[in-house]
Amino acid sequence: MLGRNLSEPSRFGDIVGQDLAIAVLRASLTSGRLAHAYIFRGPSGCGKATTGRVFARYLLCSRVSEGKSEEPCGQCPSCVRFSYGTHPDFFDVGKDQRTIKIEDSHQMIEDSMKKPFLASRKVFLLRNVENMTREASNALLKALEEPPPSTCFILTSSNPAAVPDTVISRCQSVPFRPLPVKALVHIISGLRDVTPDEAIEAARFAAGSVEKALLLLDARNGLRGFATLLEDALAESPIVQAERYSHMDAGAQTQFLDALQVELEKRLELSLEAQSEETKREAKEGDFRFYRECLLSIMKAKRRLERNVSPFLTFAGLFFELKELSAQEKRSE
Ligand SMILES: [Zn+2]
Repeated sequence: MLGRNLSEPSRFGDIVGQDLAIAVLRASLTSGRLAHAYIFRGPSGCGKATTGRVFARYLLCSRVSEGKSEEPCGQCPSCVRFSYGTHPDFFDVGKDQRTIKIEDSHQMIEDSMKKPFLASRKVFLLRNVENMTREASNALLKALEEPPPSTCFILTSSNPAAVPDTVISRCQSVPFRPLPVKALVHIISGLRDVTPDEAIEAARFAAGSVEKALLLLDARNGLRGFATLLEDALAESPIVQAERYSHMDAGAQTQFLDALQVELEKRLELSLEAQSEETKREAKEGDFRFYRECLLSIMKAKRRLERNVSPFLTFAGLFFELKELSAQEKRSE
């Protein structure tokens, strides 16, 4: 996709709520001793990949590299090409994919062996490395053990416990935090046309994640919500539905499950709040159990897709479970 992306932050100063991470990266830049690899660790949706792209601008800008500027200049060929998404030395590996596969890793190793075209180094951004296939992470490990010259790897992970220690130990760790509500409100107000009340409402239930806040906002604006899904689960055969969902592209499948997860988490939180009101207690405890079971099914489906289980089997399993849960819920009413 070409064309300048104006909404994307281009400097550290544009990033909200991650002061510690930014301080670590700035120190790394000014010390003149850059690591060969960084791992950005923190919950999903708190800005790791966005910050990775911003950091790449600093690493690639010719004026920053020559020590003539502390900020990306926005004028040099590197800065201009980056803004248009066509920088030949920047590789956003596995973007828009669920998993980084072995073929992506091979391509990455091949690219990393070449000399940079335009900048003084090449930068590879690898998102959610916990989801790499084992072959892919072995290939990455080889690259980290003997880093090619003039190359910087930026890894992100929301679940570092699932990343091999051998990979983590070769990276400088950069800590990210869940975003506070105020920072979330600021960020989502810049990305969507929302009233302050809508932004606060979405931010409150988003557990520090921009992605979740946006999903909540979009769910209000017509994305199929949990109630619709349950109606479907009862109305149609799970096989027919699995057929339909397995034909969506990988990004849309993940987005669909994410939207359901966020919606359910919000309902769980609301039913917990309601439990404190003594009168509603019993009914709400039933809701709580039901939502929790549905949420577990959705998380299981997400894990299956991440492990490359067939989407058809994954969605068939999910819809069977939701149908069963709804039937139980109806019986207990
Ligand atoms: Zn520049």
